[in-house]
Amino acid sequence: MYQTLKERVLKANLQLPEYGLVTFTWGNVSEIDRDRGVIAIKPSGVEYSAMTADDIVIIDLDGRRLEGSLNPSSDTATHIELYKAFPTIGGIVHTHSRHATIWAQAGLDIPALGTTHADYFYGDIPCTRMLTADEIANDYEKNTGFVIIEEFQRRGINEVAVPGAIISGHAPFSWGKDAFDAVHNAVVLEEISAMAIGTRALNQQIKVQDELLNKHYMRKHGKNAYYGQKK
Ligand SMILES: [Zn+2]
Repeated sequence: MYQTLKERVLKANLQLPEYGLVTFTWGNVSEIDRDRGVIAIKPSGVEYSAMTADDIVIIDLDGRRLEGSLNPSSDTATHIELYKAFPTIGGIVHTHSRHATIWAQAGLDIPALGTTHADYFYGDIPCTRMLTADEIANDYEKNTGFVIIEEFQRRGINEVAVPGAIISGHAPFSWGKDAFDAVHNAVVLEEISAMAIGTRALNQQIKVQDELLNKHYMRKHGKNAYYGQKK
């Protein structure tokens, strides 16, 4: 019944080791079918090399399993909260990719320092606040979603303009219009995280010029975009 969706989500999950974003079974990708109200997500703790489309778990927005015999990713509740809060997104990725995780562990936003960043993320990538002891003890994964949402609301950031965040002491989440777009943004997020560490090591004060940030974001996004080929 959900075969196409499961195959897409399998393929997107397999891209994580392909792009060097995961070690062991860390990391997961999901995609939502909003018309049918279902989410397809990676099963918990299954090796990428052994994963098949039948292993992909189908759940509803209350986390109830509709199809599949394996347990869904332990991060499922975070994915669900993000889909509920950000109605425009269609796919979500969570990894512990090294350089993005370094920024998360340092508790710092990933600063916009150049055009590689500006092409995809319109401004700094926010780092959330730390979770409280109570938020860690109870409904931890759900609360992980809530601190991301809280950060975007507090700062007035649009989730389409900044398609990712890092969780303090943890690692990144990224998203996109579908699972593959979310993986693409996860790859970019990792790359610009590595670049930012090197850049800030050489010059701790440097920021991208506002004019350059605007120019690069707007030439790829929005109504006057002109990057690439006309469709
Ligand atoms: Zn994690």
